[in-house]
Amino acid sequence: MEYFKGLEILDKEIKEKVKTEHVYKVFNQFMRPLITNEEFAFLENLEKYLLEEVEPKINFAKSVYELLPLLGKGNYMQRLNKHGDMKYYGMRYELLLAMAITILDPELDLARVVSGLIFTNPLFLHGKTNRLNTILEEVLSGEKIGCICITERTQGSDAVNMKTLIEEHEDYVTITGEKIFTTNGPKADYFIAYGVSDIEDPRGTMYQVVIEREFEGLKTSRLGIHSVPRVDIGQTMMNSVKIPKENILGGKGQGYKNLFSGLVAERDTIIGSSLGISWLSLITALIYTNNRKQFNKKVYKFQAVSFPIATLASELVAATVLGLRTGSEYRKFLEHPEFKFIRYNAAFSSGAKIVCSRLAHRCAYESQHICGGVAFTDNLKLEKAVQISKLQEVIGGTRNIQTLLVSSVIKNILKQIE
Ligand SMILES: Cc1cc2nc3c(=O)[nH]c(=O)nc-3n(C[C@H](O)[C@H](O)[C@H](O)COP(=O)(O)OP(=O)(O)OC[C@H]3O[C@@H](n4cnc5c(N)ncnc54)[C@H](O)[C@@H]3O)c2cc1C
Repeated sequence: MEYFKGLEILDKEIKEKVKTEHVYKVFNQFMRPLITNEEFAFLENLEKYLLEEVEPKINFAKSVYELLPLLGKGNYMQRLNKHGDMKYYGMRYELLLAMAITILDPELDLARVVSGLIFTNPLFLHGKTNRLNTILEEVLSGEKIGCICITERTQGSDAVNMKTLIEEHEDYVTITGEKIFTTNGPKADYFIAYGVSDIEDPRGTMYQVVIEREFEGLKTSRLGIHSVPRVDIGQTMMNSVKIPKENILGGKGQGYKNLFSGLVAERDTIIGSSLGISWLSLITALIYTNNRKQFNKKVYKFQAVSFPIATLASELVAATVLGLRTGSEYRKFLEHPEFKFIRYNAAFSSGAKIVCSRLAHRCAYESQHICGGVAFTDNLKLEKAVQISKLQEVIGGTRNIQTLLVSSVIKNILKQIE
């Protein structure tokens, strides 16, 4: 895909004011009352690392993948699971990581979330073999890239009834099928893929396997998704790909359980990215309008400008409190894996994803409108924020599917008084 960097028309003084370092400063003011001292210390260190080590290497006209090793070097590919000597980890830290990286570069965070969190979490939880441990280390270093293959051409929301076939053999299985919308797929070294040995019984026969780029029968192609031009999203073709036993993450039936328990972590980190998009947009609008003058006045001084920003800021603080709460709930989910609690937690994270991903789009769109023409150029990150905000409602399951999950738990609650 072709990228180009356009002409700079942003006022030099405003360009200086709106730089990431200042966006982080304002962000931290909002975040300070919402998080603990330890979380705040983590956030400040992370921002320092991102500003010093990552931002100077970012080129918005180039794909994001060369930046992943820089995140790996700081042990920032994910923060959900303990890795190496990290002191701070857990879902609340993962949410802060997603917010801070998104503010820096929303496309980089999308690629990171898929490789660093959605790909590695099943390896942390279920990967027992030496080979899987090696793969985990490689992906956490950012040097190798992971992706996840669930969605098929005919099976989107109804992913359970997948058509990808697993053939069982004594020492290995083979996998055959087509997956689409694989984020990172065309660039990936490793693929977590799901398939079933009996399409009439997907729950009882689903496998979760790790495919390696070199395995014979694997082919990837890129889809034309123009809203995130620096991230490759593709089709993954598997033609009788042979998977050795050591690469089976979830055997017959276990694959289904792993798929569903993994979706909560996926939704939670998407909540973090959505909040990051909102904060990036709103703070950019805040700083820009506080410096841009029209009619001899800073435009922020017009109530028609400052009131919508204040209204969105109030909603965003509320959504951030809710988002952080999904981080605390996630810990309970691990501590109480009984079915009732899993259902509650799935619904809680779905409800929060509905709120946060819709708000991301509204904050990005409204902030762009509030700033005017320059916000449509590549001089500000607002157009990127608008484009990526649209994906947040679809990835990890559409708005309707999240609502379906919430409504089924509500139905259960109502049974108490039937
Ligand atoms: C940019 C991008 C990145 C993605 N990354 C990945 C990835 O890395 N790996 C992966 O496996 N997948 C990925 N996906 C796929 C994503 O998870 C699916 O697009 C999503 O689950 C919806 O499936 P679908 O597109 O087939 O829509 P469909 O399932 O065909 O849905 C079409 C419409 O019908 C609605 N609908 C469907 N069923 C119901 C129902 N029961 N009740 C009410 N409404 C319903 C949906 O909400 C939607 O509005 C990605 C998608 C995009 C766009």
